[in-house]
Amino acid sequence: MQLYGDVRYLKGIGEARAKLLEKLGIRTVYDLISYFPRDYEDRSVIRELADIQEGETACVRAVVVSTPLLNRIRNGLSITRFRIADDSGTAEVTIFNQPYIKNSLRVGSRYSFYGRFQRFGGKLGLQNPTFERSDEEGKTTGRIVPVYRLTAGISQNTLIKSIRQGLDSCLDELPDLLPAETVRRYHLTDVRRAYRSIHMPSDMSEAMRARERLVFEELFVLACALGSMKNQRRNEAGHVIPAPKLEEFAERLPFHLTNAQSRAIEEAFADMASGCAMNRLVQGDVGSGKTMVAAACIWAVCRSGFQAAFMAPTELLADQHYRTFSELLEPMGVRVVQLKSSMTAKAKRDAVEKLALGEADLAVGTHALLSEGVEYPRLALAVTDEQHRFGVGQRSALAAKTSAPHVLVMSATPIPRTLALILYGDLDVSIIDELPPGRQKVDTYAVDESMRPRIQRFIVRLVEEGRQVYVVCPMIEENEEGTLDLRSASEVYEQLRTTVFPQFKLGLLHGKMKAAEKESVMAGFVSGEIQILVSTTVVEVGVDVPNAALMVVENADRFGLSQLHQLRGRVGRGEHKSYCVLFKGKGGGISAERLDALVKESDGFRISEEDLKLRGPGDFFGSRQHGLPTMHIADLSASLDVLKEAQEEASRVLALDPTLERHPPLMRRVTSIFQNAAGG
Ligand code: ADP
Ligand code: MG
Repeated sequence: MQLYGDVRYLKGIGEARAKLLEKLGIRTVYDLISYFPRDYEDRSVIRELADIQEGETACVRAVVVSTPLLNRIRNGLSITRFRIADDSGTAEVTIFNQPYIKNSLRVGSRYSFYGRFQRFGGKLGLQNPTFERSDEEGKTTGRIVPVYRLTAGISQNTLIKSIRQGLDSCLDELPDLLPAETVRRYHLTDVRRAYRSIHMPSDMSEAMRARERLVFEELFVLACALGSMKNQRRNEAGHVIPAPKLEEFAERLPFHLTNAQSRAIEEAFADMASGCAMNRLVQGDVGSGKTMVAAACIWAVCRSGFQAAFMAPTELLADQHYRTFSELLEPMGVRVVQLKSSMTAKAKRDAVEKLALGEADLAVGTHALLSEGVEYPRLALAVTDEQHRFGVGQRSALAAKTSAPHVLVMSATPIPRTLALILYGDLDVSIIDELPPGRQKVDTYAVDESMRPRIQRFIVRLVEEGRQVYVVCPMIEENEEGTLDLRSASEVYEQLRTTVFPQFKLGLLHGKMKAAEKESVMAGFVSGEIQILVSTTVVEVGVDVPNAALMVVENADRFGLSQLHQLRGRVGRGEHKSYCVLFKGKGGGISAERLDALVKESDGFRISEEDLKLRGPGDFFGSRQHGLPTMHIADLSASLDVLKEAQEEASRVLALDPTLERHPPLMRRVTSIFQNAAGG
């Protein structure tokens, strides 16, 4: 057997099981032995039969003292029974549907049994235990046994046996991805030992040491991949955009830029003037004014005679930014066009033509900006807004439209630092840690149904004062069970419009509406004509209507904390005192205490850390859109310290050996990560 050989050639695997293993991501022997346990069962302690209590799971060594009695019931079903005894007592063993046991068990021989015991009256019973002869003990009993994540048709025992086979035949070929200095510096376990110990530890501390090493290795490899990506980009030449005076831009604005905004803009200006391509992430809480950073960069690029593209994740946001940029930048000489799928063919053609001829300087739109046939002869800057909606793959797609444009990425959700380091590890980061002055904290209340009448009176008061209100409902999948007490946006809209607030003008917005409908509803809300907007989470990111002063969320337990924080960020954007009311719903999602955390906490970063702990990293990106490799062993919500060490070490290694040519196994692994990520 060879390390990179197909698992189907392992004894006991074959074609059929190989197919099943593929579902677990296992193709080669290397994959197989890199399939780490999710947990362990301690079967190393041998117990006395007499001490075992009802319901206990335990390991015993006992002699078979009665001839196994086989009862065939019907349809091939059978029961085999026999007694076992050790020095302290006896137990009755029952085994279902394994008739061959009758002949393979030897009366008078000693076996090790592991399973769950029961006591009926004084009698001890054991059903369907795992067992092996005591003199051959050590595979499934008498030791710490790994527990693997399974798929139908593959049992724990199959995995245990084949992984052991893989280790026995290939461990010597296993390359060490970590440089020897790294292993020494961090006192890590040797790779071969780590692989053996993670699967077959002799005690738990050995398993933990192995785990430590493998977590470090996984994060280190990832950090090397991102680090070398960053290096490559660093060295790419970029269009030189002479840095303009910031005041020239600032004096056109109706407000003063915050210090954090100015700092971020100056950093971006410096990048773009440097001769190398900019790769910068602007991270800031909702409402911190990231759009102005983009606007300043776009202005700088266009006044130098280049083009810029600004990509938003939804049409709604694309429209909003189109309005903002047209109003702000057209007077400064920037010619703006819009590009989105819902435009008429003619309007699209017009925009595309203007871009191609250099008669437009800025294209604002959705991923339609990436469509074939759209060309930007002088593109020097690609901005993507609300980045986590796109993922690593698309980020580079816009950049690929031309050679080495400057790239500016705006992150909507303040994401936990661990994830930021990984997801954006290849970018420089500007953090906007300051809200524009005069912003007031949004008063947040988590309430139950009994408060509904009061909230409705409150809505009436606010709307009569001239404010606007959002009512957001969770998205409901059509076949979702138990949705009866969930309020869908359309239902809520109908009810509010006809019976609760017939005196007001309401609008409804949800994902299934046609783009043109959505647009006209949104326009109605922006102009103030629509007073109460009932919607699904389409308003979650970025939408900016300063006159809106109340956000009501139905079934708030159905949302993630970060998402609720985003929703809350839709209000409190103007001079008006603003509120957020979270109807707790009936539970089933995040608990009432978690909602209370949101009531007290207004810092998006802290909320996102909490969210990560609660829901894991997957939810931050939607269904694995982030294009990162699957983690085999590292837990991103728990490994921040290790991640930092791994990153430091990666920078150190890359500084001495930028192409990793002195560490071939590491280089091969890093290259394969790139190949997989390019597909996502
Ligand atoms: P986000 O960071 O969430 O994208 P936006 O860029 O949409 O935030 O800005 C939120 C609101 O704050 C907008 O209405 C914008 O015009 C306003 N704004 C931005 N910067 C400032 C500032 N320095 N002073 C006052 N208002 C600002
Ligand atoms: Mg924004």
